Amino acid sequence: VRLRRGIHATERASAKTIRLALRWMLILATACLLAPPGFQIRLQSFETALIVAFALSNVALTLLPAAHFRSRNLEFLIVIGDTFLVSLGLFRSGLEGGDLPIAFFLNLLLAALGRDLPRIMAGATLVSGFYLYLTRRQGDAGSLELTSLLLRIPFLYMVALYYGHLVIQARLEQDRSRQMERKTYELRTLHEIASATTSTLDLKEVLYVIVQHIARLVNALRCSILTVDERGGRCTILASSDDPAVAGLTLDSAKYPEIRRAMETHQPVVIDDISREPMMDQMRGALEKLGFQSIMVLPILFRDDLLGMLFLRAARSAKGFTSEEVTACRIVANASANAIRNAKLFEQAQTVSRSHKEAADKLQNILDHFPDLIYTTDLEGRITEFSRGGEALLGLRRSAALGKNCADLYTDPEARERLRRLLREGRPLQSFETDVRCADGPPRQVMVAAALMRDESGVPYGTVGIIKDIADVRAARKHLVQAEKLSAMGELVSGVAHELNNPLAGVLGYSQLLMRGPMEPRQQKAIDRIFESALRCQKIVQNLLAFARRYPSEKRHLGLNGIVEKTLDLKEYQLRVNNVKVVKRLDPDLPKTMLDFNQIQQVLLNVINNAQQAMASHRGQGTLTITTSTRDGRILLEISDDGPGIPGDLLGKIFDPFFTTKPVGEGTGLGLSVSYGIVKDHGGRISADSAIGQGATISIDVPILSEGSIPAIADPAPRGTTPAGGKGRALSILAVDDEAVILDLIVDAFGRDGHRVDTAAGAREALEKIEKGSYDILLLDLKMPEMDGRDLFQTIRTRWPALSRRVIFASGDTLHPDTQRFIEQSGCRCVDKPFKLEVLAGAIASLAGESDPLEASAGGA
Ligand code: ADP
Repeated sequence: VRLRRGIHATERASAKTIRLALRWMLILATACLLAPPGFQIRLQSFETALIVAFALSNVALTLLPAAHFRSRNLEFLIVIGDTFLVSLGLFRSGLEGGDLPIAFFLNLLLAALGRDLPRIMAGATLVSGFYLYLTRRQGDAGSLELTSLLLRIPFLYMVALYYGHLVIQARLEQDRSRQMERKTYELRTLHEIASATTSTLDLKEVLYVIVQHIARLVNALRCSILTVDERGGRCTILASSDDPAVAGLTLDSAKYPEIRRAMETHQPVVIDDISREPMMDQMRGALEKLGFQSIMVLPILFRDDLLGMLFLRAARSAKGFTSEEVTACRIVANASANAIRNAKLFEQAQTVSRSHKEAADKLQNILDHFPDLIYTTDLEGRITEFSRGGEALLGLRRSAALGKNCADLYTDPEARERLRRLLREGRPLQSFETDVRCADGPPRQVMVAAALMRDESGVPYGTVGIIKDIADVRAARKHLVQAEKLSAMGELVSGVAHELNNPLAGVLGYSQLLMRGPMEPRQQKAIDRIFESALRCQKIVQNLLAFARRYPSEKRHLGLNGIVEKTLDLKEYQLRVNNVKVVKRLDPDLPKTMLDFNQIQQVLLNVINNAQQAMASHRGQGTLTITTSTRDGRILLEISDDGPGIPGDLLGKIFDPFFTTKPVGEGTGLGLSVSYGIVKDHGGRISADSAIGQGATISIDVPILSEGSIPAIADPAPRGTTPAGGKGRALSILAVDDEAVILDLIVDAFGRDGHRVDTAAGAREALEKIEKGSYDILLLDLKMPEMDGRDLFQTIRTRWPALSRRVIFASGDTLHPDTQRFIEQSGCRCVDKPFKLEVLAGAIASLAGESDPLEASAGGA
């Protein structure tokens, strides 16, 4: 500032000196003009007084301080005074011929209009020369001395020089003040942009203020700020001075060569006149239509980053943009860079904070809706976060839980120790099962998972954990164990039962054979015992097989009520003789669902048998109540009795295989475990409820399933054999079985009845015998090694179709759906193994009586 003041002072001092020097010269020139011929100066003349006054005024001005000298009023006064004195001088010098005043005024005119001093002086020379020429030619010179005439020339020169200097100075002054004005305007613009950027961080508003000001500053038709995507070659208008609505519009930089160039060079592109710019050839027409003649593109840079473009279009072809305008715009563009950057940073910060808030809300939402307890603690174990799920689990309000020590939630000292270890050593807790205290009831079984939380640099700052109620999981796990137990048991049992079947058939068969012959009463009794025991064994084996059954059930769309009614019909007699009254509360609107008739009937039989036995042994009578209903989208079946009930400690065991409280020989302990398996297979649940002395209730529920693709069918026709008929004619029988004892039994039993019995130990032998001999009846075992009964049957059907209608199958597993389907399709009879001899005899007799056996074979017994 001091330097600038110094410069100003020096400038002012030199301007004053020049001015005073010129004035002295003007005074001198005027004095010369007025000097009488021969320079005989009279001191008291008007001319002398005039010159002295002129000189004195200059002395006075010399004494005046330079700073005051250039005040506008004084300046004006001096010019008026000077003109007055010079005019007086001119007037007194004698206006002969009027040439001198003309030359004088011509010089004044030159000074007023002249562009610079040399030109003014050149003009003055011409005027002076012309004046001399005219004066000499007119011959006025005669009245004037040559010296006086020549002395007028410096006067004319000085007038031109002095006034020319004044005019040039005034012009310079005017330019300077115009520049000052411009600078002030620029500064004001910058100030306004700066205050706009500090008053708002809204990028749009900031940019709009900037474009408005710049457009005004350079008088542009349109000023826009664009963001540029340098890679994609696209620009987006952020703000435009003439139309706020175009903000957001995307421009393809391919159509804007000036923008492309600025993008490539990062340098301003200034086109003063598009009509002379080859780059704009293609766009010229369109731009001229809009009235745009001059274009300026200024990159807005922050360091080396191109933040955007300042894009100006104006309508001034003649002048284009001045360098001051370009500079001003560059200054504003630079100032805008900061503003744009700040606003962008603010916008980014807002986006980040918005996304942080969204993340926090999401997290809170998870905490609020997660069914388990999610908590966090500090490093002292104090709870710092406690989710809503925890309120329900622990019966503890969040506000009460916060600040509590997490270890206090647990009843088990080991759990507390584990938590301490987590805080001490960072060892996480995984699937740890324990109990938590519950404010509104007994402790709850839960599973805990917890881990240490660390900050970015790995320093621990707390723990996070999830506590999950696992009462349901435990129950499910118990069921799973039960199911696994059953499955393993089933595997074993099925093998054993199959192995038992054949020897049992021998025992049963031979005891029956013996019973037919004559014997002593003691022997008779013993044989009866053997036969009864074998029958019991057979029942057990059948139960075992049913229990072990691992083939898929045959579910159809059936009503449960119908199965209940049919089962009660079957049991009607037994229930009546045991004095059991039956109360049915069957929901008439019960929906149908997918059920396996036989299996569900078996469940019902098992449960009803248990109830009936319990009531009979308790009071010798009772009431059996069977209820069906729908609840929670499932079908519910409840079978209640008023027997002795089931003691609490046994309730958990009654579904175990082989669990029975019945006397030896009466119970197998398989009824309920078989039922359990069947119900589970139907997607259902079975449970028992009982109060001692008040009976027991077995509840079964199954899901309501729609029909699917399997058609609902009528109840399956009862399977079995025709009743034994009387003795018929002698038949020729071929028995095929891999078990020798069965073959022997059949030979013994049916040979005695007068039939001819042939045997084959396998399919191949059977085929050989059929080929050679002729048979009325074929007894085929279904399960044989190498070729089984089915394949043998198929071969027979192809080769001897008539004989294939004389087949009776024997199978240990006639309950298997595959077996059932095969037998149904074959159209043949089937007897269960081990069989009672009468059953087999009945089957043979009924087949023999059906049609003439001779049709099927060539020979006969
Ligand atoms: P089992 O009938 O051969 O004993 P179950 O599996 O059917 O085998 O039954 C297991 C045990 O459950 C029975 O021995 C009996 O103690 C008990 N139980 C089942 N139903 C009842 C009932 N309605 N009342 C009392 N006890 C029952």
